[in-house]
Amino acid sequence: MNKTLKLIKKLNTTHSLTTDEYQYLIDNKNEKASQLLKKYAVAQREKYYGKSVFVRGLIEISNYCKNDCYYCGIRKSNLNCERYRLSKDEILSCCKEGYELGFRTFVLQGGEDATFTDNFLCDLVSSIKENHPDCAVTLSLGERSYDSFKKLYDSGADRYLLRHETASDEHYALLHPDTLTLKNRKKCLNDLKEIGFQVGCGFMVGSPFQTTSHIAQDLNFIEEFSPHMCGVGPFIPHKDTPFKNYNAGDAELCCYLLSIIRLIKPNILLPATTALGTVKNDGREKGILSGANVIMPNLSPLSVRKKYALYDGKISTGDESAQSLYNLKKSMNSIGYTVVVSRGDINTNIKE
Ligand code: SAH
Repeated sequence: MNKTLKLIKKLNTTHSLTTDEYQYLIDNKNEKASQLLKKYAVAQREKYYGKSVFVRGLIEISNYCKNDCYYCGIRKSNLNCERYRLSKDEILSCCKEGYELGFRTFVLQGGEDATFTDNFLCDLVSSIKENHPDCAVTLSLGERSYDSFKKLYDSGADRYLLRHETASDEHYALLHPDTLTLKNRKKCLNDLKEIGFQVGCGFMVGSPFQTTSHIAQDLNFIEEFSPHMCGVGPFIPHKDTPFKNYNAGDAELCCYLLSIIRLIKPNILLPATTALGTVKNDGREKGILSGANVIMPNLSPLSVRKKYALYDGKISTGDESAQSLYNLKKSMNSIGYTVVVSRGDINTNIKE
């Protein structure tokens, strides 16, 4: 048996490889390897989640951002970005609509907007939890202090998504201005975990200057950090950023990596991302068939969806929207999966 297939079998039983072995798997990606990885990934996912797909209502609460990440369309230097910020009432009504549609997790995502003080956010989170005590609240609002994270947790927030973006310091510095460091990103991730959040890290596939060695380091980081969730989607260029002339990441490689991540941590909550659905028509379905088990339809008010443009061509009014949950359910049924109405927490017990 060739080395690639041997490594995949090893990963499936030990859930661990060395960084060099991860790199070997990526450098030697082929059809047979993809098929075997998919088969194992789907079987591992099934042990914990059966055929269920969890959905999260994504609410993009602000596109103001003090940061200037080179890849991101809402970076502060982008003067063409039409800025908006949702009010507390607008956010609460998104949640109400989402609840009626069957969402039991709300993800509040936004740029690092200085007007989101701890007081504002804590009041917001506790209001959502008061209105919908059976729902989980996930925050994805960038880096904050330990104290701030702790206050948000104490006000009722359950989960926090903060992609590490790349586990290589050198690559991190090519994607961000020097005000931002991998060291601080990691500190935030550790703080969040210590405080008690369910935590998500993650990275973009095919971001500028990314090598297979960087991706291998990402996989090693994921193995070591053991997050509850992991967001992995293709990089897509945005016309008003320094990376406008770079190519988008590859959907196939993204799916291959989703399968590997499922084998690293069989019960991880792993979304088939909007970016994957943007670079490939049936990207989200392919993601689920590669081992993902979460989909995050857009629940933001229609009027702001286009303004929250992290990258060009973001799908925003079609089947990925929360209002099209019916179509999503149909599409998941057609590939043998079922969208469930549930908070969709991480499952630590193997299903009977
Ligand atoms: N301010 C928050 C939310 C960032 S947006 C934070 O810092 O966590 C969420 C994710 O979108 C980012 O972490 C990044 O990985 C991804 N993203 C940003 N620009 C992108 C692009 N051009 N293509 C694909 N994904 C992108």
